[in-house]
Amino acid sequence: MKAVLMHEHGGPEVLKYEEIQDPMAAPGEALVRVRACALNHLDIWTRKGEAGRHIALPHILGNDIAGEVLSLRTPVEGIAPGERVMVSPGTSCGRCPQCLSGEDSSCRNYRILGYQIWGGYAELVRVPVPNLIALPGHVPFEEAAAFPLVFLTAWRMLVTRARVRVGEDVLVWAAGSGVGMASVQIAKLHGARVIATAGGPAKVEQAKKLGADAVIDHHSQDVVAEVKRLTSRKGADVVVEHVGQATWERSILSLAHRGRLVTCGATTASPTSSSRSCTPCCRWRRPATRTR
Ligand SMILES: [Zn+2]
Repeated sequence: MKAVLMHEHGGPEVLKYEEIQDPMAAPGEALVRVRACALNHLDIWTRKGEAGRHIALPHILGNDIAGEVLSLRTPVEGIAPGERVMVSPGTSCGRCPQCLSGEDSSCRNYRILGYQIWGGYAELVRVPVPNLIALPGHVPFEEAAAFPLVFLTAWRMLVTRARVRVGEDVLVWAAGSGVGMASVQIAKLHGARVIATAGGPAKVEQAKKLGADAVIDHHSQDVVAEVKRLTSRKGADVVVEHVGQATWERSILSLAHRGRLVTCGATTASPTSSSRSCTPCCRWRRPATRTR
């Protein structure tokens, strides 16, 4: 197959388009023909060597994959070759107490496709069968590939950890980002009032189109003051923090009494340690809930 391999960490120039041997599916795995693969920020950190974990080289990036099942190592009821699928990017053992309690991102064997194992920058990818999600016929591969990791991350932050409720005020930083776009939509789905931030008029408009009830331009407006004004000085019940050092203090100051701050990492420097904590949902960097 053709694949984009990375033999060393660095800029985009380390990505090499090469011919390599087709992968072989192991028991319990499917071979998926990749039709679309998104560029996640985690792909960039992994390429640069800044993702926080040692990566065996050569490596194939690509966290967010959609495609068609080419073959199954063993037959599985309900999944046939040719099935259009979206791939859930987190893999785990499926047997340990963490997996069995639904906390699979705490599994000792939790891995993310394209990060700790080979991903979708290739014609074919090996995927554990439980990670295949059937794709409705009307959803294009490109849209499906834009979905998995950011929505997984935002859902875990807002629903699993923050337990967002109807009528709460939710502050979402950077609604133009992947996690931001997902968070706006998930918070609205749960009946929250969304106060989003965005940088510049075009992104402000886009955030409104996504469903944000109020949008603060974080380039030109005082975010903390606006949040206080919009909430009659109460503050946000939930703050979705994924930016880091650049926004951390303002996130804390924007919180309501007993508000919850959830974070999945830092695209600017990490606010809590000297190392960059970057990945969404892996066990070393799982979203923390902070209460004030
Ligand atoms: Zn497990």
